[in-house]
Amino acid sequence: MYDVVISGAGPAGSKCAEIIAKSGYKVALIERDSNWRKPCGGAVSSRIFKYYPQLRKLDYTPIFGMTIYSADYHQLKYSWKNIRDYSINVDRLSFDNFIRDIAVDTGAELFDKNISFDYIRKNNKRVGIKTKTSSGTEEYYGKIIVIADGMSSKLAIKSGLREKWNVNEIGVGKCAILEGENNLDKEIMSMFFKPYKGYAWIFPLDGNRFNIGYGTWQVERSNINQIFNEFLKEPFLNDFFPHKNYKNLWEGTYPIPALGVKEKSLYNDNLMIIGDAAGFVSPISGEGIHPSIVSGNIAAETAIKALEVEDTSKNALKNYKSHPDIKKIIRNFKMKIPMIDFFFEHGGKNLSTMLKLAENDENYREQVINMFLFNQILSKDFLLKLKTYK
Ligand SMILES: Cc1cc2nc3c(=O)[nH]c(=O)nc-3n(C[C@H](O)[C@H](O)[C@H](O)COP(=O)(O)OP(=O)(O)OC[C@H]3O[C@@H](n4cnc5c(N)ncnc54)[C@H](O)[C@@H]3O)c2cc1C
Repeated sequence: MYDVVISGAGPAGSKCAEIIAKSGYKVALIERDSNWRKPCGGAVSSRIFKYYPQLRKLDYTPIFGMTIYSADYHQLKYSWKNIRDYSINVDRLSFDNFIRDIAVDTGAELFDKNISFDYIRKNNKRVGIKTKTSSGTEEYYGKIIVIADGMSSKLAIKSGLREKWNVNEIGVGKCAILEGENNLDKEIMSMFFKPYKGYAWIFPLDGNRFNIGYGTWQVERSNINQIFNEFLKEPFLNDFFPHKNYKNLWEGTYPIPALGVKEKSLYNDNLMIIGDAAGFVSPISGEGIHPSIVSGNIAAETAIKALEVEDTSKNALKNYKSHPDIKKIIRNFKMKIPMIDFFFEHGGKNLSTMLKLAENDENYREQVINMFLFNQILSKDFLLKLKTYK
């Protein structure tokens, strides 16, 4: 019998497992496949170091700036060198294994190559998780169950807390890690907005490797392979990539929550849902690694308190949702949703105007960058200026 059973050892599940194990509780961390590389741009702001100071010791190329291009190629360049801490771009295969290992070193028991597919129920209560492995079915009993198995979580739906995603709640992204000599500034990330809801990105990883991808929230533009290939052929990119053949080290496509947290679906009796499985992804930027880790951290703190008082009821777990950090994430995501339609009106005209205004104003520039990197929202003054711009 475990104190906590967690399905999914991505950023949300691994952080949750680490914090609970650190308190001395018995944690089972169930993972489908630790060799899976999550399709992801892998961009993480400096806020990650609060949760994983160990990452500073790894040889990530420090990222000190961002160039944002509007659909009409209006560009906003911003460097935060000597102003604020550096960001990093990670390869999700090694990153996820690094943080998973931290959870294991802290005491969580990892069960790899286990696919969770249902709950174990006794007297109408969920008392654990059933998994499939290559040799049959396994059962993991726990006082608390945490669902952290991402956007395609079956257990989140089987919990009865939420339905399947509506089509308008799903974005999709395709990305690749390419390798070859290039003219990218290794310290700068680039985002290329499009006339429809979505953007492409180039995030340098190191000397010769970079993550290049495209994500969209617009259902009609969901032929993701076509859009991704169109982006790779854009003449504008020739300056960055003077050679013809870049080695494709890996590529993948995956859905992403598009409309923020499913706030009514976060907890129930002895159950919490965290990370992508609960929609912890910032609308517009698609930033989900940091919010997922925050949700994992707070769910862990909530679980520890519940175990201490031996009350794992819905009432005891409600502190997860009412934690100020979770409330702030939910609030900020909510405020961003109406901005998606606004930005992409008339083929992305407002987004282009935002970049123009920011180009000439230091404060607006900060706000734009904070929106993309730190999940913040634009000030009323900036929004008004945007709305009335002629
Ligand atoms: C194309 C794309 C680009 C993105 N780019 C960025 C970016 O640049 N920066 C950023 O911050 N965010 C980005 N995101 C979002 C980010 O990837 C997610 O928000 C983040 O990975 C969520 O973490 P998680 O732990 O909740 O879920 P996941 O990372 O999806 O982890 C879920 C884990 O559960 C496991 N699992 C799944 N099903 C089962 C099962 N049945 N049983 C057991 N284990 C299971 C998986 O193998 C995985 O390890 C991007 C997303 C996409 C799709």
